[in-house]
Amino acid sequence: MKPVYITTSWDDGNASDMRVADLLLRYGLCGTFYVPRHFYKGVISPSRYVDLGSNIELGAHTINHVTLTQVTDEQAQTEITDSKSWIEDHTGQDCVMFCPPNGKYSPATHAPMMREANFLACRTVEGWSLDEPRQHGPLLNLPTSVQAYPTTLSSNVRNLLKRRSWDGFKRYINHGIGHDWVTSLQRVARQALRHGGVIHLWGHSWEIDETHQWQALESACRFLKQLCDSTPAMAMTNGQLAQAFVPSHATPSSPAATSRVPHTAAKKHRIPKREWQTS
Ligand SMILES: [Zn+2]
Repeated sequence: MKPVYITTSWDDGNASDMRVADLLLRYGLCGTFYVPRHFYKGVISPSRYVDLGSNIELGAHTINHVTLTQVTDEQAQTEITDSKSWIEDHTGQDCVMFCPPNGKYSPATHAPMMREANFLACRTVEGWSLDEPRQHGPLLNLPTSVQAYPTTLSSNVRNLLKRRSWDGFKRYINHGIGHDWVTSLQRVARQALRHGGVIHLWGHSWEIDETHQWQALESACRFLKQLCDSTPAMAMTNGQLAQAFVPSHATPSSPAATSRVPHTAAKKHRIPKREWQTS
């Protein structure tokens, strides 16, 4: 059977991230939080995430949450490079993952900047994917599977058409349309169990708060924990997943070789049953 991985990611560094992290940890899952320094809804310090342990990872999301395609190349370069050092200075850990705000970036212009800044991979907003991290130009891309949010037909169609993601389109038609996002997640997860791949749940904690999705998120976490417990599916952070797929020809100067994140990070995360059954 082909391996199945479970990962989650959360953008914008909102105070409600702590509630998401609490749920993830309670259910033995992993999460990567992409935190900018400034965001109009307010951000919490990266140091708040550090105490949560190795199941929680911090990724960069620019300094000012800028849309890279709307600023000069020079500004984009600064936002990308400085966001990595800002996270690393606050956490004392390598920051290997980058996520462009609003999912917008130019693969030709900005991907080389991410690579030069020594990021290992870029999490995109491509949805309805079960693909493993894939090399795209100079760095790995991590697409997503399901967004923890009641997305609309038009936004999904726009997203999938823009990326010419025909597999994703098919998956959205079969498992997205007419289902709430938790049911969609369960349906695509079953597909992953049959064929292998990455189940990647993502979202914004402030959006979960504003649209009252906390109960739905807990159901999703409970479901993913059951997968981890009853199947060979493995929970990982985005960075651990990217590390597991770094091309073997990575050079000594590449992020893969210089990163302090251990290659052995790909392991199954379990927590004692009593910790989650009582909640
Ligand atoms: Zn964002």
